[in-house]
Amino acid sequence: MLIDSYDRIINYLRVSVTDRCNLRCIYCMPQEGIEWKPHENILTFEEILRIIKIMAELGVKNIKVTGGEPLLRKGTLPFLKELKNIPKIENITLTTNGILLGEYLEKIEKLDYEFLPNGINISIDSLNSERYKKITRYENIDPLMIISNIERLLKLNIKVKINCVPIKSINEKDIIPLVSLAKDKNITIRFIELMPIKYAKNYKAIPGTDTAALIEQTFGILTPFSASLGNGPAIYYSLPGFSGKVGFINPMTQCFCKTCNRLRLTSEGFLKLCLSGNLGLDLRKMMRESVSDSEISKAVTEIVKQKPLSHSFKNQSLHGMSEIGG
Ligand code: SAM
Ligand code: SF4
Repeated sequence: MLIDSYDRIINYLRVSVTDRCNLRCIYCMPQEGIEWKPHENILTFEEILRIIKIMAELGVKNIKVTGGEPLLRKGTLPFLKELKNIPKIENITLTTNGILLGEYLEKIEKLDYEFLPNGINISIDSLNSERYKKITRYENIDPLMIISNIERLLKLNIKVKINCVPIKSINEKDIIPLVSLAKDKNITIRFIELMPIKYAKNYKAIPGTDTAALIEQTFGILTPFSASLGNGPAIYYSLPGFSGKVGFINPMTQCFCKTCNRLRLTSEGFLKLCLSGNLGLDLRKMMRESVSDSEISKAVTEIVKQKPLSHSFKNQSLHGMSEIGG
């Protein structure tokens, strides 16, 4: 079992399979995209699977496949199927911006439902075309097209969560329309406080309490919902007459680090102990120097003891959000 020096059990790994993305969200990436890197810097799927198998033996049960945009990388589909075959991995979820979701579902419908994860999180910060373009710097899609995939996912029994990062003077107007999506659909709309990492420092977060107050003014009281809806720090609520739920992830105003259960694997194979800062282990180097599974396992168990008690955005992360995966 992986336990850190504050007795936190680590059972969740977020895996960024690529740092590339088809969007350029203003708080996540520069307009020109991220710096070019040699292809070989990125872990192969075989290397990622090897790490996950080692981590599964150490007690990791939950995997989040993220990016960059995970559906952009060729091979993500077979990778998802391989993941399902790893003993001891109980829950696999995917976080996507949804641009390629329609194509992905078409492929799955033709090929094999085994390519489906247990849950899909769609990140969408606005349902308004103009604001969506402004945030993502992407012209070619109506955000409602992305949302139209929800019914298809629900029919396939996939749990759907919508993620939105509310930002002052950018997308306040989108909070209510996004929550409305959960009125008749059994989905969860989650609001994530903006964290001051790299490009996000240019923008001002809307605190979760302000978002909640706005929702209550329109839809009534948010009632805490006790059943677990995920593996992470979100706190969930129901609203009167709603089929779906609303969740809040408030890393800035309600630090949840004392219950942190996660590690992050960057697209370049760095095992990050915390979203902020740069503590961790270069697993790519170890694997490419032919270090054995048992030695990697030992090194991971040791490094986890250095997991910090809480985040500190004072020490700037060397990795941008697209390399870390959120
Ligand atoms: N491209 C995929 C997507 O957008 O869902 C996966 C990667 S993206 C980095 C994962 C999540 O991180 C998205 O929901 C995004 O909004 C969120 N995110 C990115 N930068 C953030 C920041 N500075 N603070 C809070 N959330 C952030
Ligand atoms: Fe791409 Fe996701 Fe970052 Fe937006 S938040 S630029 S979709 S990685």
